[in-house]
Amino acid sequence: MSFHVEVAIVGAGISGLSAAWQLYKLGVESLVVLEANSRVGGRTLNYPLVSGGYVEQGGTWAGPTQTALLNLAKEMEVSIKKGKLEGQTLYGFRQKWTMLEVSPTLESDIAQKDFAQAMTTFEALCRTVPVEAPWQAPNGKGLDSMTMGTWIEQNTSTDEARAWFEGCVRQILSGDPNKVSLLWMLHFVHTAGFNDLLETAEDFCFVGGAQQISLNIAERLGKRVLLNAPVTKISGYDGSCVELVYEHGIVFAQQVIVAMMPKAVARIQFDPPLPPIHHQLIAEWETMSWIKFHAIYEKPWWQSEIISGHFLSIDTKIEVLDISPEDGSKGVIVGLLAPDYTTLLKSERQELCLAFLRETFGETTQQPLEWVEFDWNHQPWTGGCISVLPPGLLTTAGSALRSPVGRIHWAGTERSSIWVNYIEGAIRAGQKAADDVIAKLNSVST
Ligand SMILES: Cc1cc2nc3c(=O)[nH]c(=O)nc-3n(C[C@H](O)[C@H](O)[C@H](O)COP(=O)(O)OP(=O)(O)OC[C@H]3O[C@@H](n4cnc5c(N)ncnc54)[C@H](O)[C@@H]3O)c2cc1C
Repeated sequence: MSFHVEVAIVGAGISGLSAAWQLYKLGVESLVVLEANSRVGGRTLNYPLVSGGYVEQGGTWAGPTQTALLNLAKEMEVSIKKGKLEGQTLYGFRQKWTMLEVSPTLESDIAQKDFAQAMTTFEALCRTVPVEAPWQAPNGKGLDSMTMGTWIEQNTSTDEARAWFEGCVRQILSGDPNKVSLLWMLHFVHTAGFNDLLETAEDFCFVGGAQQISLNIAERLGKRVLLNAPVTKISGYDGSCVELVYEHGIVFAQQVIVAMMPKAVARIQFDPPLPPIHHQLIAEWETMSWIKFHAIYEKPWWQSEIISGHFLSIDTKIEVLDISPEDGSKGVIVGLLAPDYTTLLKSERQELCLAFLRETFGETTQQPLEWVEFDWNHQPWTGGCISVLPPGLLTTAGSALRSPVGRIHWAGTERSSIWVNYIEGAIRAGQKAADDVIAKLNSVST
């Protein structure tokens, strides 16, 4: 089947759908969203439980400063509810669990003071990085030449502070500090806000799950969303009409928005080939992928016995959180496992996690009603959980991040200037791409 539209969008994650919805609301009805998968929502996914209800295997939480997400959810009639339970994170290092003090007192130990000092230095450095053009930061090249891990090493003097700082980075990134450019990380933290990332980014979640927002947009767009339609080739973007080859035919479009993970974009053939700076950017993003698991219980038996429902072990690279519903109707613990664990059998992972839950939440966690896990490494069209920039790339190719190539515009959370890797960033990038497309369409018609 071949047909013509004004705008074609590749990818029906929340970014592509936000772009489509924005265009549609502004009067562009001739559009199509081509989605490779048999469902919409991309990295947001509701997963039905045998014991009733669902858990979320991908993006779940939102914070109060994520206004694009909160507004879109409201518009799509998806309401919010309280997110993760109260309680500060406990960081585990060498078998000891510690609650971090951001403002230590005179009585605090050396490690706590060391940690707080490093945090203060890091926050001050974050503020030197411009939001829209981080590659123009003072000493940008220098900051981009090292990893976040190296900076932590150089700016802490105790093993504990080093480990805790690494734990904080893992918590906000779900990724390895040793693979991330310091400059990229400074920008990421600066634009989202340190406190927001560590304290409030999980304040809310969505009734019916975050995927419901995408499902509701897709329902309103109707036949404009095509599922099982992977795009394999995009050509003619430098001419008068773009041709997109997908599984069942060809779409001809005046403007195109590509809204997906860079790793997924790398699988599309571009004719002519993309300019080297764009090609480099797409090829060199580093993808990180954790395994998410949920343990479901009849009741949150452990809650009267613990002081916090959030543990992150630096030794084992496992993070667990109590996300039981407030009414106590069941007990739910969610966890994230580092990619190192993908080589284990599912049964081995479960055994290991249950031992970890016994250590953190107590004996009552030994017999879950249900155990589900989801490995984003093995999803055909998504290619992992998040993408980060390794050292050197932001200053050499960062200026191409948000710049169109001919008739191709870029969206997807990785292209946002703020809240990168979050749903908020995905929506903002989608809406910006839609606004740019409208401007292009208007400039042609006048
Ligand atoms: C485990 C996990 C937990 C997370 N937790 C949170 C959280 O609590 N809060 C938060 O804000 N964010 C969270 N995130 C991140 C958030 O889910 C993502 O940032 C966001 O969903 C990305 O949306 P996107 O539209 O940019 O990309 P995607 O969701 O990846 O969408 C891209 C779409 O493109 C499609 N596609 C790929 N290739 C092709 C092709 N060739 N042709 C057509 N279509 C194609 C894909 O199938 C996909 O549907 C989490 C992510 C994961 C994985």
